[in-house]
Amino acid sequence: MEIQDKILALREELTQHNYNYYVLDNPTISDFEFDLKLKELKRLEDENPIFFDVNSPTQRVGGMVTKNFPTIVHEFRMYSLDNSYSVEDLQEWEKRIEKALGEKVEFVCELKYDGASISILYENGQLTQAVTRGDGTQGDEITNNIRTIQSIPLKLKGNYPERFYMRGEITIPLNTFASINKERANNGLELYANPRNTASGSLKLQDNTEVAKRGLQCFPYYFIGNNLPYTTQWEMLQAADELGFKIPHTSKLCTSLEEVLAFVDYWDNERKNLPYETDGIVIKVNSFSQQDELGYTAKSPRWAMAYKFKAEAAETELLSIDYQVGRTGAITPVANLAPVSLAGTIVKRASVHNEDIIKKLDIRIGDIVYVEKGGEIIPKIVGVNTDVRQPETAEIEFIKNCPSCGTALIRKEGEAQHYCPNENGCEPQIIGRLEHFVSRKAMDIESIGGETAVLLHKANLLNNIADFYTLQKEDILPLERMAEKSAQNIINSVEKSKEQPFERVLYAIGIRHVGETVAKKLVKHFQHIDRLMHATMEELVSVTDVGEKIAISIKEYFKEEQHQIIIQRLRDYGLNFEIGEEAKPISDSLEGKTFLFTGTLTKFTRNEAQKMVEDHGGKNISAVSKNLNFLVAGDKAGSKLKKAEEIGTVSILTEDEFLIMING
Ligand code: AMP
Ligand code: ZN
Repeated sequence: MEIQDKILALREELTQHNYNYYVLDNPTISDFEFDLKLKELKRLEDENPIFFDVNSPTQRVGGMVTKNFPTIVHEFRMYSLDNSYSVEDLQEWEKRIEKALGEKVEFVCELKYDGASISILYENGQLTQAVTRGDGTQGDEITNNIRTIQSIPLKLKGNYPERFYMRGEITIPLNTFASINKERANNGLELYANPRNTASGSLKLQDNTEVAKRGLQCFPYYFIGNNLPYTTQWEMLQAADELGFKIPHTSKLCTSLEEVLAFVDYWDNERKNLPYETDGIVIKVNSFSQQDELGYTAKSPRWAMAYKFKAEAAETELLSIDYQVGRTGAITPVANLAPVSLAGTIVKRASVHNEDIIKKLDIRIGDIVYVEKGGEIIPKIVGVNTDVRQPETAEIEFIKNCPSCGTALIRKEGEAQHYCPNENGCEPQIIGRLEHFVSRKAMDIESIGGETAVLLHKANLLNNIADFYTLQKEDILPLERMAEKSAQNIINSVEKSKEQPFERVLYAIGIRHVGETVAKKLVKHFQHIDRLMHATMEELVSVTDVGEKIAISIKEYFKEEQHQIIIQRLRDYGLNFEIGEEAKPISDSLEGKTFLFTGTLTKFTRNEAQKMVEDHGGKNISAVSKNLNFLVAGDKAGSKLKKAEEIGTVSILTEDEFLIMING
């Protein structure tokens, strides 16, 4: 078989398996077989870059970084929805539209998926662009990120309109949301407030490999375009199914308002069993000709109405506030509540995040507060019933001193959180750092769980993370519940941890705001601890995913002498502070060379091209100047090409010439 045919056949086969798995929930081959085939396709594509296709199944796993998302004006505006909160509201709405139309209407009821809305353009059956709602008139282009969402078809099946936009909602499953927040808590990061923000935050991640990991879902609810062949909303939803979209089977065609109300009633309770969040129902006039006749107000269609569920809330008394100290010294206030039943569980505690939130809510001890449970791990206080407030209550004063060690707390400009600066004398911080160091995603020292670390610390054997490497079997043996074997295991696994790669070590040392992903990016960029320690602010923020806040935290960390000592000790014990061979960029053939891409690219996207440059040690720059070595010009290249020609020292390449340069 010709290579090209082979590639095409594999793509088709994998696309079908993907569809079976993610849309039909009915896989017909094992994950293992699927991975083998995907690897084979990847290999063929890598060896034959001229057959590159952005909509190949290999592109789903990510591997592209978007630094800035271009702004795109919506061809068809993305409207909001009008809200209703009661049966009476809905009855009035029905009356209003039937009066305007002079005839009866049918409705389609859909769940109101609580996520981020998206508009995806399909041209000739191919996904070509995806844009966020933004302000409804213009949004951000996030095509590379959207391609990683498995249930969104990259190529359509069946009989598709030539050109149209699919409108839908991107949501994050509740269990993924919970595990992301757990990880953020472990990393000392602020928690995401709710699944909706997390979904939209996920769509704007720069590295689409990370987007791919978030298990995002897409729920289509509308097609828009010129001369589409559908006559009703219901017909269009069925068509979406046939084109390969994953249609939630929760929608219903209703011939009367009574049926609509029954639907609302049913889901008010049943939604608690869904794996994603809904905050209401969307009711739409089924007939498109009736929709056209009703038209739009300035903000929303007249032919649709959202019905909002009452949030899950309970009232209870605020008993007291506790303050917890994290491993980075961050102080988190937690409210103790009089136990109350909320959405099936008894709630006794609620998070209040930080001082600003306490102030904003103006909660006081003894107040009757409203607690709500969204998709959050622990519920939160959303308001106060001031009508029943006791007269002698006082505003809550945020603590000034650490609840554990008594040191005066600090709060830096621009940060919401208070910190205890007593890094070395504050028990929860010391213990938190030790626990973090051995944890699974850090050094992964199996035989020392968090508990053993605390035990060793209490026995005065561990005071900082470098002390792990001076542990002696004789010192451990006398401890409670330690036998010869377990002591030896500890020594062995500490020894083995010296093989952990630099990125894990960097994460494990616990620099505030440096999570796993950032650690990886830093290692790839700086490659050696010395370069990272001496990096300027400018260099730091030039790394993908590193913003000013992270950069400052890194600089501050390395400025401290005691940190320098710990790092020196770890280096002496033989830990890795240099990038491993496997993690190094593919080659350094473009070292010191600068690139810029212009015009319409057809063989690869701008992001892919930029990644290729980085993978080979080159650098992307954003403007034509004397510093530019290569300008890769696609079709319709304009002013940049002209300027490069004028400068005279810039080499101008076609896309193919660039690929040859990369792949030889
Ligand atoms: P709002 O943001 O409250 O004005 O509500 C409008 C948003 O609801 C739209 O922009 C969509 O993103 C979202 N939405 C969720 N589910 C649906 C649905 N089934 N039909 C239409 N819009 C929906
Ligand atoms: Zn303290």
